[in-house]
Amino acid sequence: MEKRKIIKIKPKKIYTKAEDYKRYYVTGAIGGFRNPYDFRLTFYNIDSNEFLLKTQNLKENKNIPDVEIQNKLKEVEMTHILQCELIMTEQAVKELYEFLKKEMKILDNLKETYCPNCKKLIKWVPTEIDDVFRGKCPNCGMEFIKDKNNIVRLQKVLPKNE
Ligand SMILES: [Zn+2]
Repeated sequence: MEKRKIIKIKPKKIYTKAEDYKRYYVTGAIGGFRNPYDFRLTFYNIDSNEFLLKTQNLKENKNIPDVEIQNKLKEVEMTHILQCELIMTEQAVKELYEFLKKEMKILDNLKETYCPNCKKLIKWVPTEIDDVFRGKCPNCGMEFIKDKNNIVRLQKVLPKNE
């Protein structure tokens, strides 16, 4: 019998948003492996207004001795509003881990980019275009752009939104 050639198929990826796709702004995450196949990550936001108000009121209260205020301050709760939970496979966790490592490296490199003119650290701000940052030298005012391919170059014209 003739041996069949094994053809590896690499699917062409396309990304499409689910109908109930949502976007959250979060400040932190909790979770971990529930078992070897089930990794859970819950994202939250902190309600700091309430916390600040309560601590401020305590600090300004002249009727309570300082020692008591210190103890009460430790008891003030900060609400963490859980926004959503993701349940991931081990493979998804590995991919996320590699992705985050890569992204953090890019960010760290960016934070250590110096102006070629005066060797000062460039300050970066986001732009209206995803993945594109604008940088400015605080000393000479020279402007830079980091594009989607993470290439930093002198800014001439800001690319138009695609
Ligand atoms: Zn400069």
